[in-house]
Amino acid sequence: YTRRAERTVDTVCPFCGVGCALTLHVRNGRIDRVDGAPGPANDGRLCVKGRFGMDYVHHPQRLTQPLIRRADAPKDPAILMHGPGGRADHAALLAQFRPATWEEALDVAAAGLARVRDAARAAGLRGRAVPVAGFGSAKGSNEEAYLFQKLMRSAFATHNVDHCTRLCHASSVAALMESIGSGAVSNPVRDCAHADVIVVIGANPVQNHPVAATWIKNAVRRGARLVLADPRRTELARYAWRYLGFTPGSDVALLNALLHVIVTEGLVNEPFVAVRVHPDDLRALREYLRPWSPEAMAPLCGIDPATLREVARAYAGGPASMIFWGMGVAQHSHGTDNVRALIALALLTGQIGRPGTGLHPLRGQNNVQGASDAGLIPMVLPDYRRVGVAAHRAAAEAAWGLAPGTLPDEPGLTVVEILDAAYEGRIRAMLIQGENPAMSDPDAAHARAALARLEHLVVADIFLTETAALADVVLPAAAWPEKTGTVTNTDRLVQLGRPAVAPPGQARADAWILEQLAQRFGLGWDYGIDPHGGAPEPDSGIGRVFDEMRSLMPALAGLSWARMLREGAVTHPVPAPDDPGHPIVFTDRFPTPDGRARLVPARPGAPAEPPDADYPYVLITGRQLEHWHTGAMTRRSAVLDALEPVPHVSVHPALLARLGLQAGQPVRLRTRRGQVTVATRVDEAVPDGVVFWPFAYAEAAANLLTIAALDPVAKIAEVKYCAVAVEAL
Ligand code: SF4
Repeated sequence: YTRRAERTVDTVCPFCGVGCALTLHVRNGRIDRVDGAPGPANDGRLCVKGRFGMDYVHHPQRLTQPLIRRADAPKDPAILMHGPGGRADHAALLAQFRPATWEEALDVAAAGLARVRDAARAAGLRGRAVPVAGFGSAKGSNEEAYLFQKLMRSAFATHNVDHCTRLCHASSVAALMESIGSGAVSNPVRDCAHADVIVVIGANPVQNHPVAATWIKNAVRRGARLVLADPRRTELARYAWRYLGFTPGSDVALLNALLHVIVTEGLVNEPFVAVRVHPDDLRALREYLRPWSPEAMAPLCGIDPATLREVARAYAGGPASMIFWGMGVAQHSHGTDNVRALIALALLTGQIGRPGTGLHPLRGQNNVQGASDAGLIPMVLPDYRRVGVAAHRAAAEAAWGLAPGTLPDEPGLTVVEILDAAYEGRIRAMLIQGENPAMSDPDAAHARAALARLEHLVVADIFLTETAALADVVLPAAAWPEKTGTVTNTDRLVQLGRPAVAPPGQARADAWILEQLAQRFGLGWDYGIDPHGGAPEPDSGIGRVFDEMRSLMPALAGLSWARMLREGAVTHPVPAPDDPGHPIVFTDRFPTPDGRARLVPARPGAPAEPPDADYPYVLITGRQLEHWHTGAMTRRSAVLDALEPVPHVSVHPALLARLGLQAGQPVRLRTRRGQVTVATRVDEAVPDGVVFWPFAYAEAAANLLTIAALDPVAKIAEVKYCAVAVEAL
């Protein structure tokens, strides 16, 4: 590479939760090249998405002007399926709309939301019964997440506001909050350099958190023993000391068997438990675990008893043992119980609060940690202040200039509940910013029908996504490399993003869009946010938002906007201005009322839809290295789309042989929700009887087949497991 950049800009990767720092080389107003920068999370490393995936910013399909649905264009989800190769025809999607000025689009957007709200108020509806809801985004900045939840709560007096964390780590956060009082990770990824034993369960970091995987591989090369537990024998298995290819959906059987070994073989760290765990919990858990012996669980989880005992002894004996987990644990109708068992492993053995130990739910999106911290969740305000606590509501009302009693005391509806309510007419208007539920939500045909039934849908995004195509008003947004803001990675590391290029056409920063809407609702917001993304300057609208946000967040109390600009990357909690931040937490107490953790038994939970005679196989959905989530960005990246241009379902060779097919030939996948035709790929990592399918492809959307069965605690959907028929064509 010999071309010289006109300038370089340091920012953060917009894809996964690892939060790699990168340097954008800008030439002729375009991002011309990307290098890894020496950030705390990556130390210069990048994966293929960070290095080659930024050209989505300049794709010709970027939205460049506000759009309003034409009166003669009824909303029809079928339009998403009828195009070349089964992919929606972009021109046909655009033709549903007419261009509008920002003034008109914002007026129409706000008026539609206000109309539904006012009718509800007149009918006496309050709280979650208010038929208005919002989906913010973990792809936006912390400031945008904060403003989004503030807008929904202030303008509509409802907590019906959520984002993709509901489909991601909601079960992890629910179990962690219940047990140790915090939903965040205890130790950063790179702390695995100090671990003797590393457990990775239900996660495929080589594909989904690639730079994090490099730190884990380095730890193994240094001598750490890696236990990989996953029904798929993923690439990380090559580095594993023990690979546990357990039966899909049997997580609780596997983990409770490990816990049984720990409590029956004298492996409990009694001094740790005596001071760090609630006094009655160990006795109760010991009793509960009595029947869960490895011998009893082996037939359920498919792992032999000797291996289960060996792994439990290794983890407990450490000396430093660390657990990573991902969607394979969380996205189940018993996801909260899965995580309860992982927490119990760490607590019983004292493998938390020290270097090389701890619990790390690998966050997916680049800012899912920050969006959750900022309160983009229906049950909590910023910094996880419960909406049911009067003092927490009063503090938010005072900070936001709301009349006392404005905020309801019951949590709002969650993502899947909101779309169910939309389908049934109980939610009638929505604001969606940067999320694509028409692709990402389970049972996507139902989700699309629900979106189409809304009286008024406003979507702000950078592309005319499958969700935006069902909107009444579409607002063109600035992309991440076009604006200033902060994001928080999986390690709780808050990093500053800086703009490298200008938004195209009339695209505007999401924070500015929210401020404009708030003004139309009479909320009196006056941050002075720059519509064009702004610069990282001390006196800026985004800076004023950041400082207001941290005034409500003790975890960020010592991290002013001025300090953020100065240091660029700080790990929260940061309780005081001179506090350096805390990569490792829970060193001496847990953030619970008495400082002690709770041990909560993990109850057995079966998958909601096991295979049967009609649907004899198991469908697992997930991601792949080259594409990010619903594909809105990476499918528009030339290099990434060239690497993986078409969807494939991964099938074990034995199943392919039984179907009488060669690799590459298509199959029909059919579940009780729908059917899709997709090409096959031979993959010996997938167990016979299981098929794996990434959900990034609009022309064969995996979520058309998934089930919306919910975990009863966290309301996360079981997109990791449903029964499927696989048929040769
Ligand atoms: Fe971006 Fe994640 Fe890849 Fe790092 S590992 S470059 S954050 S996608």
